[in-house]
Amino acid sequence: MVLPEREPASRGFLLSAADITQRRARPLDNPFMTLGGLVSGTLQLLWPARCAACDRGVDDQTIFCGQCAPSLSPLLNACPGCALPRRDAAHGARCVVCRRVPFPFRDAAAGYEYGAALADAVVRMKHGQRWMARRLGPLLVTALMELVTMTR
Ligand SMILES: [Zn+2]
Ligand SMILES: [Zn+2]
Repeated sequence: MVLPEREPASRGFLLSAADITQRRARPLDNPFMTLGGLVSGTLQLLWPARCAACDRGVDDQTIFCGQCAPSLSPLLNACPGCALPRRDAAHGARCVVCRRVPFPFRDAAAGYEYGAALADAVVRMKHGQRWMARRLGPLLVTALMELVTMTR
């Protein structure tokens, strides 16, 4: 016959040093004690953030998971007319297509080359997951800021 182990004696009202430290923590030191932190924590608990491309769990402020993020390639040396990457050395000049048949808009900008995880996320956004536009928006901020400062 095996007897169950005895449970440790109740601590009653005695508190450990860690308990006291936790109770003395100021409310603003704990992000869940603020209203915004409470709302954010609750939303993260109910609807955890997912990678925009593959649905793996990510932190609330993260767009792509660790496996998808390396596939993003910042757009360098793009045509200012169509924002497509240029493989030649003509930095800042419009591509042949834009010079031949100009678009009805003056300038275009993009933050990253289209492909891999970014393409998956954009396709998901276009086909039903419109809420994802808010998560992908920060990827355009730098490119749009550069475009605005160049056109001033
Ligand atoms: Zn992913
Ligand atoms: Zn072009």
